[in-house]
Amino acid sequence: MTVVVVGAGVAGLACAVELAAAGVPVRVLERSDVVGGRMATADVAGRPVDLGAAYFTVRDPGFAEVVARWETAGLARPWTDELAVLAGGSRDRAPGPMRWAAPGGLRSLVEELATDLPVQLSHEVHRVGPGPVVDGEPVDVAVLAMPDPQALRLLDPDAPAAAELAERRWRPVIAVAAGWAEREWERLPAAFVNDHPVLSLVADDGDRRGDDAPVLVAHSTGEVAAAHRRDPEGAAVPVLAAVRDLLGLTAPPQWTHVRYWPHGAPLADRERPFHLGDDGVALAGDGWGSARIETAWRSGTLLGQAVAQRIGARAAGGA
Ligand SMILES: Cc1cc2nc3c(=O)[nH]c(=O)nc-3n(C[C@H](O)[C@H](O)[C@H](O)COP(=O)(O)OP(=O)(O)OC[C@H]3O[C@@H](n4cnc5c(N)ncnc54)[C@H](O)[C@@H]3O)c2cc1C
Repeated sequence: MTVVVVGAGVAGLACAVELAAAGVPVRVLERSDVVGGRMATADVAGRPVDLGAAYFTVRDPGFAEVVARWETAGLARPWTDELAVLAGGSRDRAPGPMRWAAPGGLRSLVEELATDLPVQLSHEVHRVGPGPVVDGEPVDVAVLAMPDPQALRLLDPDAPAAAELAERRWRPVIAVAAGWAEREWERLPAAFVNDHPVLSLVADDGDRRGDDAPVLVAHSTGEVAAAHRRDPEGAAVPVLAAVRDLLGLTAPPQWTHVRYWPHGAPLADRERPFHLGDDGVALAGDGWGSARIETAWRSGTLLGQAVAQRIGARAAGGA
């Protein structure tokens, strides 16, 4: 019995962790040369900067155990339970759940999940067909742990899993990181930007990382990302002009770094945490719930448990 997980984001690796713990042989295939997916961290100007997810929250008791392990290892730390809300020239505070950050970047948390798992990087999967067959290789279960539009590209249009995915739209985002010579803004630590034509969120990366570096990361609205999909770098000018205007910054940044996410977040939530078809094709990720790291982890974890249970039941039936 073999399981192939396509996608080494937090959902795919959480799924693989469960399978490996249950003794099910599993391989993870990832098209990028790093794990993490949208928990993306880049080394810019000599330090890590989060260019995908800004932070994470913790509600699920199982996820809380994993986060406690990350905290003990120094990989994650509670950041803030109060964000700013900027809207139409006013500034409010938004109390809420604790937001967690990672001193080494959120990708380091996914790297920890990948420890001891067979992950093949720079391995793009092109087709998951009936059988299931992953690029011609028969497997018992194929898990697609990625945004719906990316999974749809791999499936036959008439596959049952494709019917689960069709017609669901995802919002693009452009993240613009920028570094200044010195901190000119009042501590945020991050701000939701409401009803703004260009910005949706601004995060103080030095504050969340804990090194106090004068670095901000701004997330665009979906409209701005869609308008710049063929020229993401071109979004840096309007996004930074909006950030400087919003925070009253007089100095230009010393450097900028842009990352385009064509499928940043699903536009609607789903009730079910994953799909596991009778045909052995399974789907997981934040598309199965809401656009959150915790949702993706839970989706992958529950799917991994369900696949292990199915394989265990088949093995017991055949014995
Ligand atoms: C700008 C932005 C801000 C966000 N902010 C937050 C936040 O503040 N808090 C929060 O909780 N969440 C946030 N999120 C959402 C969070 O990042 C996601 O919910 C989570 O990371 C999704 O994980 P995943 O494993 O489901 O998918 P992904 O991380 O997208 O992983 C999918 C993986 O599959 C790989 N893949 C795709 N196709 C193939 C293929 N054909 N072959 C091989 N590999 C393939 C991809 O390369 C990728 O590594 C944000 C996301 C973005 C983009």
